[in-house]
This record gives sequence, C-alpha cells and structure tokens, in this order.
Amino acid sequence: MQRDTQVFELIGKELERQRSGIELIASENFTSLQSIQAMGSVLTNKYAEGYPGHRYYAGCEIVDQVEQLAIDRLKQIFDIEYANVQPHSGAQANAAVHLALLQPGDKILGLDLSMGGHLTHGSPVNYSGRLYDAHFYGVKKETGYVDYEQMEAQAQKIQPKVIICGASAYSRDWDYKRIREIADSIGALVMADIAHPAGLIAKKLLNDPFDYCHIVTSTTHKTLRGPRGGVIMMRRDFENPFGQKDNKGNLKLMSSLLNLAVFPGIQGGPLEHVIAGKAVAFGEILTDEYTQYAKQMQANAQYLAKLLVNKDYNIISGGTDNHLVLIDLRNKNISGKKAEQALVKAEITCNKNMVPFDDKSAFVTSGVRLGVPAITSRGFVEKDMEFIVDSFDKIITHSEDESVIASVKSEVNNYMKNFPLYPELG
Ligand SMILES: *Cc1c(COP(=O)(O)O)cnc(C)c1O
Repeated sequence: MQRDTQVFELIGKELERQRSGIELIASENFTSLQSIQAMGSVLTNKYAEGYPGHRYYAGCEIVDQVEQLAIDRLKQIFDIEYANVQPHSGAQANAAVHLALLQPGDKILGLDLSMGGHLTHGSPVNYSGRLYDAHFYGVKKETGYVDYEQMEAQAQKIQPKVIICGASAYSRDWDYKRIREIADSIGALVMADIAHPAGLIAKKLLNDPFDYCHIVTSTTHKTLRGPRGGVIMMRRDFENPFGQKDNKGNLKLMSSLLNLAVFPGIQGGPLEHVIAGKAVAFGEILTDEYTQYAKQMQANAQYLAKLLVNKDYNIISGGTDNHLVLIDLRNKNISGKKAEQALVKAEITCNKNMVPFDDKSAFVTSGVRLGVPAITSRGFVEKDMEFIVDSFDKIITHSEDESVIASVKSEVNNYMKNFPLYPELG
C-alpha cells in the first residue's frame, strides 16, 4: 500500500505546532511516547465486547490481560475496589453513570455550565439536560467559591436523585463531606466528576472524593496525562443506593449496573489499544516521577496566579488550589474571544471561558482559562511562569499591535526550544 503522505504530513505539522508554542489549555497535556505507541498498536484490530474473562468474541486472552492491568493499576492509584476503564471519553463515562442510576425525567443537580460546570452535568444542549430534569447550583458572587448553601437549598427543594460535583473551570477544591451530608439528607447519590484535577487527587494534593462520593468519573487525558478516554470508579460499598435501606452488597450491585451501562448500554467494543495506553499511563502515575510532576503542577499554578494578581489580573476566587486559573478580563477591556485570538497569534494557546455572572455570551465571554498540566509536562517550573505572565500581559495590553504580537511569538518559539517534546520523533 502507498504511504499516505497527506495524513502524515499533517501529523508532522501538528507535532511542530505542539513543539513551538506554549500550551495553556487546562484540559490538555502531553501523554508519554510509550502511551502513544500503545495506542498506535495492533490492539486496535481486536473486538472484545464484554469484560475480561467474559467476552462475546474469541481470541481475547491477551487483551484480557491488558485491560486487567489497566484496571489493577487504576485501583492501586486511587485505592479503590471498582474500576471500569472502557469509556471512550469523559462524556461517555458520565453518560454510563447516568444510564445506570437514572430514568428519563429523573432530577439531577449539578454545577451550572456558566459557573464552571460541564455540558454533561445537565446542560440543555447535552443529552443530560434533554433526558433528565436538570437543576443547578452556582458559585458565590463575592468569593467565586461553590455556594454550598445554594446547593443545599436546591437539593431540599428539588429532591434530585443524583447530585453531581466537579467542574471544568473551577480553581478551588471541593468539600465532598458537606456534599455527602446534603445528599444523605434527601437520600440522593453523589457523583464526583474529577476529569480535571484527577492527577492531583491521585497524589493526595487535593481532598479525596472517594470516601464521600458514591461514584467517581474521570477523563484520562487531562492531568492524568494518559490517552484520550474516560474511567468510572468506586472505592467502597455504600448503603441505600435507591432508598432501599436493607440493600447490602451494593458495591457489587452497582458495579454490575455500571458495567452494563457502559457495555451494552452506551458502547459496543472497547478500544483495547486506548486501554493499553491507559495502562501505560497508569503505570507512570504510580512512579515518584509523576508525584513530582503533580506537585510541580500545583506549585506552577499557584505561582502563575500570584504573578497575574501582581499585574492586576482579576482571578476568580483570588487564586487556585489546583492546576488552573480562571481570569476575568473585564478590567482589562478585552473580551475572552479577542484575548484568545491575539494570544494564539503569538502561539500562546488557551481558551476563552465564561466567568461566573458573565454578561457576555459563551461565544464571546469575559474570561480566559489558563492551565499548567501541559507546560509542566514540558518541564516548566516556577521561574518559567514569569516568562508566561510577561508574554501574556504584553499580548493582552497590545492585542491589536501586530509588531508586539510578532515579537512575543518569536520569543515564545525561542523559549520553547529549551523544552524538547518527543525528541525521539526527530
Ligand atoms: C473534560 C471534561 C469531561 C469530558 O471529557 P471528554 O473526554 O471531552 O468527553 C467531563 N467532565 C468534566 C468536568 C470535564 O472537564
């Protein structure tokens, strides 16, 4: 067969783009070459509907071991009893949990999308807002922290079956104990979506959701630095899953409901090549090197926030506990959209983002979200945050000045030469 030069040329260009710029999109990262190699392997050829030891296809002896390795390593990372590594993405993991727990029309309570929540937590444009009766809590206007009083009041009033915590653009830790108490007071279940901060939770740098939340979902490609995908997890048995007080052995019951919800509920054959990539990434997370990485992410984010505040940037909640900051740009007289466009020209990639109580639409927005997982993987430490903030500030304050943008771009390109990415790829 003829080599497909068209596609591989584009992949080469994308590698060059990733190498030369500063990647600040909070949900992105650089997965290891060995994880990428596992994904680009012959495992993609194998059909394996079902679970290890119980497949609907022959010839699964080896992929069974691959998937079991991913499961065992994930269990070790979070000290948990149940893990499903098959969801194709974070959204699929959430859809499977919803399918397992809810009937169409059931009530759910999640963080409002415009306050940092995720589409799959009940947005009207997502299946979760169309199939279920979705209600929301927000953050406090004065502090930018989750408004637990509002969560409690909403829970009492609405009586949701599931309370969803977790976010895509929230820089603070969560009070899982409080959320569980609210849920217990109305007999609801708690689902924590740790798609963003999972890597920090894995290394105990943030509160542990597993003791309080019945079910935890995550992506594997954000702070966990694995392949694009999702997982569903539970630590321990819990009582009273559907209000049946005498229902013991619920972990087992819930495990099988969740497994059935992933397959055959919402997916067909698992992506065993991606699961192999997950297994590789999970193995890396168990090393001291990754522990160091997670600590550095948190230190970088905190220093980044401090430097931004020093330059009079308005950070929602005033700082960060995790790997990201959300900046309200209204005092700088530039929209999130304009800021994003100008920054991208200088090869500083980040995304526009609504801020809580935003007066602009989701297409324009008043803010940008900056995250450090990717640049920390490139080797950035605290002092490199100074270069980022100086460059960022030059662009924000000269967003229409093409010569400033061009000079920042060349400084960025030069700077990144000191942080090789996938040098093995030539
Ligand atoms: C990123 C994210 C997801 C979805 O992940 P995909 O893999 O893009 O489907 C779900 N929940 C939260 C909170 C996220 O940030």
